[in-house]
Amino acid sequence: MIAPKRKISKQRKHKRRSSVWKLDMPGMVKCPNCGEFYLSHRVCKSCGFYNGKQVIKVNKEAEA
Ligand SMILES: [Zn+2]
Repeated sequence: MIAPKRKISKQRKHKRRSSVWKLDMPGMVKCPNCGEFYLSHRVCKSCGFYNGKQVIKVNKEAEA
């Protein structure tokens, strides 16, 4: 069994993780239709467009 020689301190661990953390999710792309960010290979949440076509109906400002 191979084990690390030393325990990594809380400070070191937190420092490492702070730099790795990303604000946006991986695979986020800008929608060509509305300019919103959405997950790649998923239908755009704000306008319902996918692959240049409207796939789902999105009622904008229907319920306020
Ligand atoms: Zn969109």
